[in-house]
Amino acid sequence: MPKTVGVLAVQGDFKEHIDALNEVEGVEARPVKTQEQIEACDALVIPGGESTTIGKLMERFELDKPVREMVEAGKPVWGTCAGMIVLAKNIVESEQWRLGVMDITVERNAFGRQVDSFEVDLPVKGIDEPVRAIFIRAPYVREVCEACGVEVLAEFEGKIVLCRQGNLLASAFHPELTDDRRVQEYFVGMIGE
Ligand code: GLN
Repeated sequence: MPKTVGVLAVQGDFKEHIDALNEVEGVEARPVKTQEQIEACDALVIPGGESTTIGKLMERFELDKPVREMVEAGKPVWGTCAGMIVLAKNIVESEQWRLGVMDITVERNAFGRQVDSFEVDLPVKGIDEPVRAIFIRAPYVREVCEACGVEVLAEFEGKIVLCRQGNLLASAFHPELTDDRRVQEYFVGMIGE
């Protein structure tokens, strides 16, 4: 039985995530945008894009309910970039809608406006060789609640860019935009852990 990974398909780069996840053995990735589709998945990815738009659409279509149920059931949920912002409990200087399920404080557009996007080789805890990380108007994690069980997996220039809290994974960068599938494999490995 393949593992079913849903990619929230309301806005953002969900197509790239689906293609990347489908390259991982034993995975069937598909777009999801209804409660029923989300409920049928073993894991969920919230992609990059525009976090205020993704939040508004999740709220409008009441998609927060099945996602919260997944989180409570221990199923893995991974937010990249805008998706990471949607997962966060706290967003610096913003009242925008969010799921607020992960005990992290994020700051949007944290690497400055001049440097819109950049790439680095990023050492990641739990992965042997560095991962090529693409940042696009990326947020970063300013603070994590260690007492809540948040573990930092990667930092760039002292800024947290990858972290995990139990079945939740958050990345400021875009592993779906490179040929390297090790972060996807790490995430899929969280299913049924
Ligand atoms: N800056 C965007 C936001 O705040 C995130 C950018 C991205 O997902 N690539 O929603």
